[in-house]
Amino acid sequence: MFDRLSEESRRRIHEKIEQQREAQAAEAIERIVQFDQTPADLKAHLDRFVIGQEKGKKIIATAIAFHYKRLGNALKQTLIDEGGDVSAALRLTRTPKANLLMIGPTGCGKTYTCETTSGLVGVPFVVEDLTKFSETGYVGQNTSDILIDLLVSAGGNSHLAQMGIVYLDEIDKIATENVAYRDVSGRGVQKGLLKLVEGVENTIDMGKERIALSTKHVLFIAGGVFDKLDGIVEKRMERHGFSGTWQDHLLTEDLVVFGMERQLMGRFPVRVVYELLTTQELQDILVRSEDSPLRAYINDLKAWDIDLTFADEALKAIAQRAKQERTGARGLISIIHRVLFEDMFRLPGSHTGPLAVDERYVRMRLN
Ligand code: ADP
Repeated sequence: MFDRLSEESRRRIHEKIEQQREAQAAEAIERIVQFDQTPADLKAHLDRFVIGQEKGKKIIATAIAFHYKRLGNALKQTLIDEGGDVSAALRLTRTPKANLLMIGPTGCGKTYTCETTSGLVGVPFVVEDLTKFSETGYVGQNTSDILIDLLVSAGGNSHLAQMGIVYLDEIDKIATENVAYRDVSGRGVQKGLLKLVEGVENTIDMGKERIALSTKHVLFIAGGVFDKLDGIVEKRMERHGFSGTWQDHLLTEDLVVFGMERQLMGRFPVRVVYELLTTQELQDILVRSEDSPLRAYINDLKAWDIDLTFADEALKAIAQRAKQERTGARGLISIIHRVLFEDMFRLPGSHTGPLAVDERYVRMRLN
C-alpha cells in the first residue's frame, strides 16, 4: 500500500522534526553552559572503561573539565549580552584554549580515553588521520572535511559541532624528518594545522542552506607514538645531569628535535604520556573494563543459551599473546575471536549450557 501524504501533513511532520531538532540543540547548548562535572567526576567515569594510565587519565580529565567549564562560563555571559542568540555568542566569546598532546604506543587507550570523555561531556567527537593531510601536503580541503565530520557527529547541530573535540591521530607522522612522501613538506602541513587549531572559519554549502562553522572553540587533542622521543629526552637529561624518568622531563625543545614545529607544539601545552600496557593490565581490560570485548562475546553466546566462562589462566594466556603481538589492547578482540571462532560456528543450534574455556584450550586454538 502506498499512502500519499497531503501537503498539509507533510508540512506538519516537517515542522515537528524541525521543532525537535531545535529543542535538542538548545538542550545541548544548555548542557555546556551549565557544565558542572569536576575532573574527579570525569576520571571516575573513565576508570570504569579505561584500565591503567592513571596519571594520563588525571591530566586528561582535568584538561577537559577545565576547558568546558571555562567555555560554558564565558558563553553564559555572552549569551546574556546577546539576548540568547547562540550563533552570536559563539562568535563573540573569547576563551583561552589549552589543547592536548598525547604520546604513547599504539593500542594503549589514547583515542579511547578521549572518545569516552567526550561522550560523558556530551559533545561531538571525531578522529582525523593526519597521514591524509601529508598526502596532499595541504590543509585547506581537510579543514572543511573536519568541520563537516564535526557537524555530522553533532547530528547536524552547528552550534554543538563548534564545541566538539577533534582527535588528530598520528601527528608524529607529519614531523619534518618523518614525511615518507616525496615533494611534500611536513613543515607546510604543520603550518596549516597551526591555523586550524587556532581557529578557522568556513562556510559549508548544504544546498538549501549555508552553515558557517569555526574551530575557535573546538578542543584539539593530537596523538602519536613518537618513536624514539624517549631517547631524545634522555640524551638531554644526561647532558644536564638530570635524573628521573623521561616522561617527567619532556619539553617542547625535545619535540622540536623530533621534527615538530615549535609554534605548533606551543598550541598543545598539555602533554600526556601513555604507557605500554602490561600483561596484567591487558588481562584487567578483559575482566574489568565495562567495554570488555569478553563481555560482548559472553552476551552474544548467551543469546544462543550458551554460558561462556573463562578460567583465570585462560585469560592470562590471552593477555600474554596480546602482549607478544605488540598491538596493545587492539589485539585482544582478534585473539578472542581466534580462540572462539570454531565454537561460534558450531555450537549455536547444537549445544546449550556451559562452555568453559581453560588455558589448554586457548593454547591449542592459538597454535
Ligand atoms: P591508541 O592508543 O592507538 O589510540 P585506542 O585507544 O584506539 O588506541 O585503543 C584501541 C582499543 O583497545 C580501544 O577501542 C579499546 O577497546 C581498547 N583499549 C586500549 N587501551 C585500553 C585501556 N587502557 N583500557 C581499556 N581498553 C583499552
